Amino acid sequence: MRRDLPTLFKKALAKSGPIVIITHWSPDGDAMGSSLGLYHYLKAKGKDVKVIIPNEYPEFLDFLPGKNTVINHLAQKKKAEDAVKKAGTVFTLDFNSFGRIEELGKAVQESKAVKIMIDHHQAPDDYAQLYYHDVNASSTCELIYEFIVALGDKKLVDKKIATCLYTGLLTDTGSFRFPSTSATTHRIVADLIEKGANNADIYNAIHDDNTVERLKLLGYCISDKLNVLNEYHVAYISLSEEEQNRFQYKKGDTEGVVNYPLSIRGLKFSVFFSERDGIVKISFRSKGKFDVNKFARTHFSGGGHKNAAGGKSTVSLDQTIKNFLAVLPLYKKELA
Ligand code: 5GP
Ligand code: MN
Repeated sequence: MRRDLPTLFKKALAKSGPIVIITHWSPDGDAMGSSLGLYHYLKAKGKDVKVIIPNEYPEFLDFLPGKNTVINHLAQKKKAEDAVKKAGTVFTLDFNSFGRIEELGKAVQESKAVKIMIDHHQAPDDYAQLYYHDVNASSTCELIYEFIVALGDKKLVDKKIATCLYTGLLTDTGSFRFPSTSATTHRIVADLIEKGANNADIYNAIHDDNTVERLKLLGYCISDKLNVLNEYHVAYISLSEEEQNRFQYKKGDTEGVVNYPLSIRGLKFSVFFSERDGIVKISFRSKGKFDVNKFARTHFSGGGHKNAAGGKSTVSLDQTIKNFLAVLPLYKKELA
């Protein structure tokens, strides 16, 4: 944990120059919510500010206020890189190593801007000048709220900011059920609702907007693709690109699939493999002590949190699963 003093952030913001906010590849609810929440706050402070995302966000986040201002690096490379070049200050949110922003990492690395990291993932790199980092925070949105309060600006939290921050708190805590959900989380949530976040509408927008195909894809994953290895208290599901196409896959459709096997009695570790554009994206989830951040870092060029992490593999889907099964015996004791 490293939360630098509010006075240091105030000093940095007083001479910030143009500000760019960047979040991670395949931005989720917390990435988008924290970026747009901070964006609206800095706008209210009179700043010149832009949000850049490495690639597209899922459609179910389309209700977020300010989403039309976001620059997608994959689609608008020059516009995004020019903004980074011009920036006096770069905020990096919800990630902590340049590998998580892919191609955009080079532009940020070369930029002379003051870098500020606000993040809650394990093992941060040391590229920033200022940190608001805490692995005990439920979400980056929780940290953005505390950051605004620490800077003495609680009164600036309006409906737009509250809506954005509530979104990340909701999604990163699995609707307030993961162990990362604290009394502080609930106090912040209460305040955000008072500031105008409509909790029921936000939940509906995120979770009750499935296509028929998406629901059927979930059914297929569970009925046809679930592998349970009782010996290791592990379950895994894999989806090839062909299988996804059969269900008219679109971005975000498999979000949350990895959580279902964890509801099986006695299961401790769940893994979801999904093939896309020649790479295999992997999601890891655990219950209790098993550290999936460590597992993802050690074997699949990834990382994240103790109970939720991700990684990738550049060999085929079949080979990736074989590699996974080959390392499992090393963890037999930990998973017992
Ligand atoms: P998800 O499985 O939902 O994609 O990601 C779970 C958690 O792990 C999130 O907090 C996400 O930011 C992190 N994560 C996902 N993929 C990667 C990765 O490739 N590298 C690292 N370091 N973290 C990841
Ligand atoms: Mn997060």
